[in-house]
Amino acid sequence: MNKLTPHPDIQHLSSAEKETLMEKYVSGAKVSDLVREFNIKCTPSQLWSRLPPRVLEHPCPVCGSVMVQDLPSRSSYRSSPKIHCSACDHEEGNRCRCKHCQEQRTRAAAEEEARRQALITQAMKAERDRYVCSSYSVDALPLSLGVAFLAFYRCCPINKKGLYDPLEANPVPFAPAEYGSTLLDLLRKSGLISISEHSPVGSIFHQGSQVTFTAEKVCWTGDIDKNLKLAEDIEDRALTGNWPEHWYAEVEENWLNLALAECKEFYDYCLDERKLHVQGDEAIKDMLRNILRDFSVGQCYNIIWQGARNAADFLVRRKTNHTHAGNFMAGACQRAADTARAEGYAVKNFRRNFELPRSMISYVLCDVIFKIGERGFTERIGLEALARESENLW
Ligand SMILES: [Zn+2]
Ligand SMILES: [Zn+2]
Repeated sequence: MNKLTPHPDIQHLSSAEKETLMEKYVSGAKVSDLVREFNIKCTPSQLWSRLPPRVLEHPCPVCGSVMVQDLPSRSSYRSSPKIHCSACDHEEGNRCRCKHCQEQRTRAAAEEEARRQALITQAMKAERDRYVCSSYSVDALPLSLGVAFLAFYRCCPINKKGLYDPLEANPVPFAPAEYGSTLLDLLRKSGLISISEHSPVGSIFHQGSQVTFTAEKVCWTGDIDKNLKLAEDIEDRALTGNWPEHWYAEVEENWLNLALAECKEFYDYCLDERKLHVQGDEAIKDMLRNILRDFSVGQCYNIIWQGARNAADFLVRRKTNHTHAGNFMAGACQRAADTARAEGYAVKNFRRNFELPRSMISYVLCDVIFKIGERGFTERIGLEALARESENLW
């Protein structure tokens, strides 16, 4: 029914009577009086829906028909009555659900998505142009990069689209907490891998010209064939023990970087568990580096746990705040380590925490390259320790 056709309940009224009825309604006359006076067959609350809408001057932008505005309802709190087309479903305002407006919104969203995708593609291509891999030879590869690459390669199989799967798809974590982004940066800058513009929606974002991404969720790309060959070469060198000469000098540094990352991850876990806060973590890393000069990761876990227990105790006994207690923890760890050193007593190794499982970096470095397994966790590893290890083996 055309919305301009008078409702059957008011068809008995002349144009002049309708005018008067409308005027009285708008000026606030009692609705039940109007229903009686004009002999309209409806309840007072229905009167509003029987009254003809106000005809507006501008036509419908969709179909060109007359636009109308409903009369203000007495019972509704709607501030301004609805303006809509007398012929089609179009309604003024950006909440219109008519077919035309819905299509227009879908089109605008598709255009925005295309613009977003173009920006991401451009940024990813720029990164590939910037970081080109200079060599796929194991002999040119630092140990840190070789380990990071093999761990990445084992975490991210190639999917049907010819891309490396996201890290989060693998149940084994790539690396302990923040160490993962350091290693991914290293891999990206080496040109061995780069983020794919065909990553899942919601893994790459752009704000203005800035492109950011969630490292765990993006898909990766690279030279698939050369990378496969490189991964095989690294495994081969590890198996035969025929290391590139420069790897020997990097043993301790690689163990230490992983050990520090594992200790820092456990340290943050202990803080979180007790709801303690710290400001900045450089001092904590310095303290952990100091402890790792003499202790294994398992022993550091023990020392960190003692520090956390003492900090929680300090929080309760001194009735202090969580930040003060958080800052106390680093000093407590240092004192526990110093006492063990001074008095020469053996610090017992802790086991890994169930919530912080062993990472792929640890498997590759300690099992594949060093061939010492979890002794990388329970012993302090340097070149001498590895040399002793190979003497025992042969
Ligand atoms: Zn219309
Ligand atoms: Zn519309």
